[in-house]
Amino acid sequence: MVRVRFAPSPTGPLHIGGVRTALYNYLFARKMGGKMLLRIEDTDQTRYVPGAEDYILEALKWVGIEIDEGQGVGGPHAPYRQSERKDMYRQYAEQLVSEGKAYYAFDTAEELDALRKQLEEAKVDNTSYNAVTRMQMKNSITLSKEDVDARIANGDAYVIRLKVPLKEEIRFKDIIRDWVVVHSSTIDDKVLLKSDGMPTYHLANIVDDHLMEVTHVIRGEEWLPSAPLHILLYKAFGWKAPEFAHLPLLLKPEGNGKLSKRDGLLGNFPIFPLEWKDPFTDEIARGFKQDGYFPEAVVNFLAFLGWNPGTEQEIFSMDELIDSFTLDKIHKAGARFMVDKAKWFNQHY
Ligand code: GLU
Repeated sequence: MVRVRFAPSPTGPLHIGGVRTALYNYLFARKMGGKMLLRIEDTDQTRYVPGAEDYILEALKWVGIEIDEGQGVGGPHAPYRQSERKDMYRQYAEQLVSEGKAYYAFDTAEELDALRKQLEEAKVDNTSYNAVTRMQMKNSITLSKEDVDARIANGDAYVIRLKVPLKEEIRFKDIIRDWVVVHSSTIDDKVLLKSDGMPTYHLANIVDDHLMEVTHVIRGEEWLPSAPLHILLYKAFGWKAPEFAHLPLLLKPEGNGKLSKRDGLLGNFPIFPLEWKDPFTDEIARGFKQDGYFPEAVVNFLAFLGWNPGTEQEIFSMDELIDSFTLDKIHKAGARFMVDKAKWFNQHY
C-alpha cells in the first residue's frame, strides 16, 4: 500500500513550492489508492513561528488536499508533531551509539571553530567533523568510557553524531533524477541529536518515515543533497529505505535562478494574505485567495509546475488530475513560476 507524507516545518507561511509538493503527494496517493500523512517537523525551536501550523492546515484545506493521517486528523502513529516525539528520537540515537554507529561529541563551539579554520587552511571541502578529524576531537571514540560517563554525569553539553563510513559508495535510484551516486567521504559526521536534546531534521525525518511506513518520499529538489545521508541512516538502522522522488525546482519567471522567499510577492506567494510579518522579506504579501483566485485554478496551475500529462488537455479538475497523474511525467528541469499562467487558469474556471 502506497503511503506518502507532507512534512512541512512550521517556520512561516507555506511557500508555494510547499503547496505543490503537498499536491503531488496527494495526487499520487489518491491515484494509487494509498494514504497521505501530514507530519509537522518542528524540531528546530529557533525557527518555529507560532501560527504557521494553522496556516498550513488552512492552506491545504483551501486547495482541497485531504489528509488521511496526521495533524488535525489523528491516526495510528500519533502524535505527528515531532516535538512531541522527542524522547523516542533520543532512544534511536542512543541505540546507534551503543552499536558503535554513532558517538557522543563534547567539543565546545571554540574547539569546533578552530577545527573549521584548520580544515579551511588545509583546503578540505568537508569543513566539519569527518572520519579523519573525529580522531582529533573530544568524543566517545577518543575518550575513555569512564571519562564519557563522568562528563555526561557532570552535565557537560554534548551532541550525538553519525559515524559516517570512511570509504563507501552510496547509490540510490531517484524516480525523477535517476541514479545518484555519492562518496561517503564527502559527508561529514552529521549531528543526529542536538545539545538541547532535540533530534536534527535528518534523524527525526528518517525515524518517522520508517515508523510511519512511508513508501515514497516526494519532496523538493533542495532535499536531494540530504538523501545520501538518509540512505546511510537507513542502513545504520538496518531499515529499508523508501523510494525517493525529488521534484524540480521552481525558478524565477525569467528562468534565472531559484524562486526564493526573498523574491517577496512571487517567491512567497502564499495561499492566504500573511497574517504576520514575514521573517524573510519583512513585507506583507497578498495571497491567491485575496486576489480572487479559485482554488481549482491554483491547483491546476501548480500541477503544471513541473508536470505534464503529455496530452493537449490543459484544464483539469482535481479528479482528472488524480486520474492522469504519474511520477514518470514529472520533469527534471526547473519550472518557471509565471503568474500570468496562473491568471490564465483562473480565467478558465
Ligand atoms: N521539514 C522539511 C521541509 O520543511 C521536510 C523535507 C522532507 O520532506 O523530507 O521541507
